[in-house]
Amino acid sequence: MTEGLLKDKFGRTIRDLRISVTDRCNFRCFYCIPDEDIVWKRRQEMLTYEEIILIAEIAVGLGVEKLRLTGGEPLVRRDIEYLIENLARIPGVHDLALTTNADGLDKRAASLRAAGLHRLTISLDSLKPETFKEITRRDALQSVLDGIEAAMQAGFPPPKINCVVIRGLNDMEVADFADFARATGISMRFIEYMPLDNGHQWDRKLLVGGREVLERIQERHALVPLQRDAPSETALRYTFADGSPGEIGIIAPVTQPFCGACSRLRLTADGNLRTCLFSMVDHNIRDRIRRGDTRDQVADFMIGTVLKKEEGHRINEPDFVQPPRTMSFIGG
Ligand code: SAM
Ligand code: SF4
Repeated sequence: MTEGLLKDKFGRTIRDLRISVTDRCNFRCFYCIPDEDIVWKRRQEMLTYEEIILIAEIAVGLGVEKLRLTGGEPLVRRDIEYLIENLARIPGVHDLALTTNADGLDKRAASLRAAGLHRLTISLDSLKPETFKEITRRDALQSVLDGIEAAMQAGFPPPKINCVVIRGLNDMEVADFADFARATGISMRFIEYMPLDNGHQWDRKLLVGGREVLERIQERHALVPLQRDAPSETALRYTFADGSPGEIGIIAPVTQPFCGACSRLRLTADGNLRTCLFSMVDHNIRDRIRRGDTRDQVADFMIGTVLKKEEGHRINEPDFVQPPRTMSFIGG
């Protein structure tokens, strides 16, 4: 492991850069993006691929080892394979992942693999076409299932599947998802609904806590806890007691926050560094690059930004204020 130079005031070292490559998306998940009247970022506001590559190189030079492409929907940005090829070439990148809704992935999985992508995380909130449509506002369940299948065929390790659990919508499906994990050998990860939605409609009553998800699965299948791979890992992981393939992960940022071991920094599609999903401030790195700052100057800016990283989110504090930007703009 290279020496980590991105250290914050609380003793945490940044190893993980999440890069949002676009704020655009072909889905309209109700908890993420508005259904209409969306004001997309203009092309000239967005980082070019060359700018993203430069920022990633600088971050890796400072100790970042994991890169994740996200958005918005990364597959809607043209020629994402070019970006992947260039990021995969940076010496010191140990993990290059992409989070996608998997719509159309069946046609892209092979080219993403050939470009050098290491692994995929796929979002899937329901196995029922109607519920899927209610959440994403798109009738695309079969396309996503085809995408998951194609990812396996293309030689990727079994993808992790993210499911945001919402009370009254898909919470009755968690044990079915566990069956899906067993049948496919994938890792099914249940995420708590976070107050990052566009309409500021988040309501604790809609949140299904990680412990409840676990109980519901255990009514059907006994689970055995797994050791964390790394302290910064967000998921509490479980295998099936009967030795079946597949895995369960619980990501509970609201009821069991993991801020104390956070190793993440985010880069928005319009070139802002964000030190936390719930930050109220952006740190504009794009304009520094565009005005011609040297690599060392940009590196110093990154080091200084990490020093401003918040100790943790304040979702559970009475004075919590939801950030103005939603997941689709920040990069999930
Ligand atoms: N479009 C890609 C996708 O859906 O996988 C990548 C971007 S999306 C913003 C990344 C992840 O954030 C998805 O798994 C999505 O479900 C999750 N997400 C978005 N809004 C959320 C919220 N309010 N609470 C919890 N997770 C959320
Ligand atoms: Fe798009 Fe992903 Fe947000 Fe859904 S969660 S609207 S797929 S960016």
